[in-house]
Amino acid sequence: MRTETKLIVGSRSRKGLSHVLPIDLSTTYRTPDLEQAARSLEAFSQGAATAPNPVYARLSNPNVEDFEMRMSALEGGADSIAFASGMATISALLLEASTRGTHVVAVPPLYGGTHHLLNSELLGLRVTWATAGRVGDAIEADTALVLVETPANPTLTVTDIARLAAAAGSVPVAVDSTFATPILQQPLAHGAQFAIHSATKFIGGHSDAMGGVITCADPTFAARLRQIRIATGAVLHPLAAHAFSRGLQTLGMRVEAQQQNATALAARLEAHANVLSVTYPGSTESSRATVRRQMRGPGTMISFRLAGGAVRADAFLSALRLAVPAVSLGSVDTLIQRPAALTHQVVGEAERQRGQIPEDLIRISVGAEHLDDLWEDVEQALFESAPISIDDKVMCTASGGAF
Ligand SMILES: *Cc1c(COP(=O)(O)O)cnc(C)c1O
Repeated sequence: MRTETKLIVGSRSRKGLSHVLPIDLSTTYRTPDLEQAARSLEAFSQGAATAPNPVYARLSNPNVEDFEMRMSALEGGADSIAFASGMATISALLLEASTRGTHVVAVPPLYGGTHHLLNSELLGLRVTWATAGRVGDAIEADTALVLVETPANPTLTVTDIARLAAAAGSVPVAVDSTFATPILQQPLAHGAQFAIHSATKFIGGHSDAMGGVITCADPTFAARLRQIRIATGAVLHPLAAHAFSRGLQTLGMRVEAQQQNATALAARLEAHANVLSVTYPGSTESSRATVRRQMRGPGTMISFRLAGGAVRADAFLSALRLAVPAVSLGSVDTLIQRPAALTHQVVGEAERQRGQIPEDLIRISVGAEHLDDLWEDVEQALFESAPISIDDKVMCTASGGAF
């Protein structure tokens, strides 16, 4: 089956006469056969995905399992494990890595929360930050994991996954593929061991459910991640799992429509006199071949800079009427923010420079609104925040930025 069909057919209930899998909110399950329940509990604690008796909701839930099976089919992996959030997923991945080594190689830039976690020393892991081309040199005997995001948040830098996996050798590579969605990119097909998604973003698609998921090429890793989930308890709620299974059914359509808008918007921004630069995956000569090789399209995220720095960027953001000023991404509506002020504030200025995140960079997650409405909004905000003289800027700052 092709992806579009897989997404829809996979959403039919496999049990009973219900067309849709019922939401199971039970936290506990009856255990009429005590021996069977005990054996099930033992199996779960060893990392089994299913057992005859679910026993307890922290061990197993049919809606969570349903979502995981869809993700494995989409990503082409052996098994998937869903967590309470994207960060819970990445924490579990790093915990698993810490059982195999003390060192991790990370490619900047990463999502602000991931960056913060890696540098926080909360997990007792040493971290070497290395550009994709230097990953081979950064690997030590004790390196347990290479972590990369592609396209990366928020610069949309594209990394060649196959090349990175080759450089990493026997060290497993984890790709945070949130920006690409499972529709546009399958990291496992290019040699990654793990594909990660913050399901909170595109998979949910409507900004109303939080969760994360990791797909593993190797079932041994999957079992260990399940053990970690059971032991640490960062489980996905069944209602969120239901929202993600439903979200997957329209993911293909949403990504296609939003990508079409993004492609047009990127071109219009590029051509606008007040726009300094635009980054859209594949927009540079160097990224074009990689995007063509490992992605089915450039996606729905655009980063851009206006002439006039952060003051001007913030004026532009406040002048918008339709695009919503908010963190997060992947919703059906357009969300826009300035990463240095919000999502990547925790990263710190020096680290932002290393990750090449300019203070005035604006990140837009393009929604499925009508393109002309979106562009009219962006265009009027560009006009409202048009170039200002130094005197104007001083006056604006003095009067609280009333422009
Ligand atoms: C949002 C995000 C995360 C974290 O996911 P949460 O669901 O917010 O915990 C991780 N990686 C990327 C690329 C993200 O955009």
